[in-house]
Amino acid sequence: MVNGERLSFDDGLALYRSPDILAVGWLANYVREQMHGDTTYFNVNRHINPTNVCVAACRLCAFGRKKDAPGAYTMALEEAWASAASGYTEAVTEFHIVGGLHPDLPLEYFLDLVAGLKERFVQVHIKAFTMVEVSFLAKRAKLSIRETLEKLKAAGVDSLPGGGAEIFADRVRHIICDHKIDGGEWLETARTAHQIGLRSNATMLYGHVESDEDRVDHMLRLRELQDETGGFQTFIPLAFHPANTALDHLATTTGLEDIRQIAVGRLLLDNFGHIKSYWQMVTPKMAQISLRFGADDIDGTVIEEKIYHDAGATTPQGMRRADLIRLITEAGRVPFERDTLYRAVMRSEDSFTIAV
Ligand code: SF4
Repeated sequence: MVNGERLSFDDGLALYRSPDILAVGWLANYVREQMHGDTTYFNVNRHINPTNVCVAACRLCAFGRKKDAPGAYTMALEEAWASAASGYTEAVTEFHIVGGLHPDLPLEYFLDLVAGLKERFVQVHIKAFTMVEVSFLAKRAKLSIRETLEKLKAAGVDSLPGGGAEIFADRVRHIICDHKIDGGEWLETARTAHQIGLRSNATMLYGHVESDEDRVDHMLRLRELQDETGGFQTFIPLAFHPANTALDHLATTTGLEDIRQIAVGRLLLDNFGHIKSYWQMVTPKMAQISLRFGADDIDGTVIEEKIYHDAGATTPQGMRRADLIRLITEAGRVPFERDTLYRAVMRSEDSFTIAV
């Protein structure tokens, strides 16, 4: 790796199985510092989850509900637009929008949602809809993936988040998310998004029934697509939270597992610009430590997180900009407020400009 050689499948397995976590971390940190020095990225963002109604019933999920189940909700458009403006006073640079696969909401609802946000928040980048949601909306609207993505882009979607990738291996998907699109469809949807100029992230859900081989396979499939399109911005390993899911007999991930996953991601995904340690998932303390194990990004203010809190996350629902800066600074790194496309943000509390 230090020679710049691309790692193989077996190298990936060896990194997972090495008893010397500090050596694995040293290598990942070396690569991270070669790419970014001390710079550590964060953003001021807001999550919006328009509905938790979902037809999929994935066993990994504590968020989705049947339409008439207790706690099911769907925001009216005005409500979603109002929620975008609520929360902290600091001007957000990104809306992160994901939700359930609602059996009745048509594509037009989502197009109107995005167009209405763009109208009200002209400067804010809209990162919306996982590959799973895009595929579901396309099927419902009887459109191709490309046509659906083009409509979403025309309405104001600027990029896509990386969720729904889970683990690509069929064996695992059958257990944790049987009704979701398969790994090949996820990758094909991402390919199409990248081809029409929408960048995306990529996630991997770990710490459930997957093997080391499944994790390496997942990352190498992402690396292969990245070689082709260059459209992925950030890889985000997501620690599985079992509480309130159908897999609640499983244990939560440990700190060492979280750190190792960040490090292996940094080392295997040599063509990804950024590795994110998402503080909501692994706790702010582990996110801070991971900045020495390969991560260069800790995500953002979030403001109101629903999905992982339904699954028992004990982290705060949001953090202030100053808290993120403190976490990064105290790790001996240099905070860099980015927009979604990793450009510098210059700001006052209620306005910002992007360096281009
Ligand atoms: S993970 Fe997503 S698709 Fe699966 S049940 Fe939950 S909300 Fe629905």
